[in-house]
Amino acid sequence: MRLVLATANPDKAAELKAVLEEELDDLIDLVARPQGVGAVEETGESLEENARLKAVALVAATGEAAVADDTGLEVAVLGGAPGTWSARFAGEDATYADNVAKLLAVLEGELDREARFRTVVVCRFPDGTEIMGEGVVEGEITLVPRGLGGFGYDPVFVPEGGGGRTFAEMSPSDKHELSHRGRALRSFAALLRQSIGAEPSSQLYPPSS
Ligand code: IMP
Repeated sequence: MRLVLATANPDKAAELKAVLEEELDDLIDLVARPQGVGAVEETGESLEENARLKAVALVAATGEAAVADDTGLEVAVLGGAPGTWSARFAGEDATYADNVAKLLAVLEGELDREARFRTVVVCRFPDGTEIMGEGVVEGEITLVPRGLGGFGYDPVFVPEGGGGRTFAEMSPSDKHELSHRGRALRSFAALLRQSIGAEPSSQLYPPSS
């Protein structure tokens, strides 16, 4: 089965590819997002809506099944922000470094640094059915950035169960083992296997439009 990667972010594409190839190598042939497809505006109010917007746009552009993920960093003391605004926390064209700097500034002097990453994966098929996966990892925000790996907020996020390391201090495989994206993709992969073997599956939804 061919599956188009909907993300235009090369850091996310590398992680999606690594985990999906490990989980579904026997079943899927991953296809990179075609270059000519324009940016998809993330106008949804939830991670699920944004992931669906991206997957649907790529199905429309390619006529093939597409898989998209949307991720948010949810900081408890900020009421779950930046959430769906994680990429634009420090402004429309913010870099990863801008967003990290803003997060540390907003949390300066704050003792409650509890946070979590959440990822929703939507795989959409040309007939309008879809399979979703969700993954969460709890953790906390550091006082200063640590580590050179990963991307985004990884240098300031210490996941539970990672021995106190930030995601940026881990190897890619250690990150995938614990991460929101790894968990969401593994749950999606299990549902995809199930849906191929058994039908109708409760995880196959009718078209939303
Ligand atoms: P997106 O909307 O899924 O593209 O992700 C929003 C933003 O969250 C990205 O621009 C990154 O700054 C951040 N982000 C997403 N995934 C990760 C991750 O695995 N680690 C750290 N930051 C991430």
